[in-house]
Amino acid sequence: MEYGDKHILVLGAGASGIGASWVLAQVGAHVVLNDYKPVTLPADEEKRLVSAGVKIITGRQDESLLDGVDRIVISPGISLDIPIVKAAQARGIDVVSEVEVAYELSKSPIVAVTGTNGKTTTTTLLTKVLEGTGKPVRVGGNIGDSLSEVAYSMPADGFLVAELSSYQLETIKHFRPIGAIMLNITADHLARHKTMENYIAAKERIFENQLSTDFMVLNIDDPIVADMEHRVLSHILKISQHQVVPNGAYYDKGQCYVTKDGIATPVIGSDDIHIPGSHNIENILTVIALTYVLGVPAETIHRIISEFHGVEHRLERVKTIDGITFYNDSKATNVDSVVKALESFDQSVILLAGGHDKMTPLEDFMQLVKDHTKAVIFMGEAADRFEAAAKEAGVQPIYRASSMKDAVEQGYKLADQGDIVLLSPACSSFDWYSCFEERGDDFKNCVHMLQEGRHH
Ligand code: ADP
Repeated sequence: MEYGDKHILVLGAGASGIGASWVLAQVGAHVVLNDYKPVTLPADEEKRLVSAGVKIITGRQDESLLDGVDRIVISPGISLDIPIVKAAQARGIDVVSEVEVAYELSKSPIVAVTGTNGKTTTTTLLTKVLEGTGKPVRVGGNIGDSLSEVAYSMPADGFLVAELSSYQLETIKHFRPIGAIMLNITADHLARHKTMENYIAAKERIFENQLSTDFMVLNIDDPIVADMEHRVLSHILKISQHQVVPNGAYYDKGQCYVTKDGIATPVIGSDDIHIPGSHNIENILTVIALTYVLGVPAETIHRIISEFHGVEHRLERVKTIDGITFYNDSKATNVDSVVKALESFDQSVILLAGGHDKMTPLEDFMQLVKDHTKAVIFMGEAADRFEAAAKEAGVQPIYRASSMKDAVEQGYKLADQGDIVLLSPACSSFDWYSCFEERGDDFKNCVHMLQEGRHH
């Protein structure tokens, strides 16, 4: 869209909405930023927007906001089911996500990452490896700054790296990444998408505008992702830890290989990889496959991956005390990521879980917990349901904690030398905390407060 003199209503006064409003004002649009909640913007943000000519309306969201509007830009937190969006659609007003604006404004091509789990880890690593091209690389979206704002400041001839959730993809229009990664799809966010089909359909939009010259990385070890092969129109790059692939990347006996037309080149071995678990091999393989076709030499990919130690709050090693190692996996907000965490360790694990309950089924999960843990400690709003499901599955022993400090101290007491105490909640953090980072920081503080030598 040519934004000059257009009237744009931006919904949601969070980071994405604020970024989009500012950017749209820069390109000449008349912008209203609206949030139904009476939110107060940070003073400097408000000043920046007002001086750019953005009108801020919060605390109400009536239909009159739609009068004269050419397009609505929505933030990822906003459901398409809310009355103002429904009313806009009924009036034939275009509704697009902030990511679409980013696509329209970026001078550089976009590479994008989506999936249920591993997006931030993969996006971070992808960004670092692409920097190995020497070209300008910027990152945004679900991670860091709003994508549209990063896109606006993006010079030509580089790469804009986007981490995208299903929410952001749900309302794209022409958004087209030249390279994209589909990591995995498991049940999450069903409260908003209602069915698994809707969730998958939203994710698949990442490749719907791709051209035959573009690239799509599919993790074929995931059956839902593997099935997308028939709908992708660009070059498919497959990744697998179980089979050799002709174009893409695979893992075999401790080595990651990149392949092109059936010819395999070794890129990196497990001794040089410092992020634990087979799920991280999955993340690494996707990055290898995509960056190689985008022109990064295998040696550069090797060097950058070997220098990568992961992202905070994702299976982050905190400290070893009396031979007991504490891991912070606060970002594990669904059962699948906890499964991956448990499968990453050969040692005995004491699992600290619970938080704000996402109400996903727990039967299969607790069976795995039973096989992979030495003890579990539940906390937060989900504790009752988790305990009931754990008992049902025969998990034992089961403990309860009334605070993070209590959970950490109990975990420390229960552990023996060589054991792992793992915070991997399978829940969001909103019962006790404002975000998963705050929960992870609390965990780490509690671990650092433990007194060495006080064990048993
Ligand atoms: P996202 O941005 O998709 O939430 P993160 O990289 O922040 O992903 O990781 C979230 C959680 O999922 C962490 O607990 C991490 O250890 C786990 N995880 C990372 N990669 C994967 C993967 N490929 N499959 C499953 N779980 C993963």
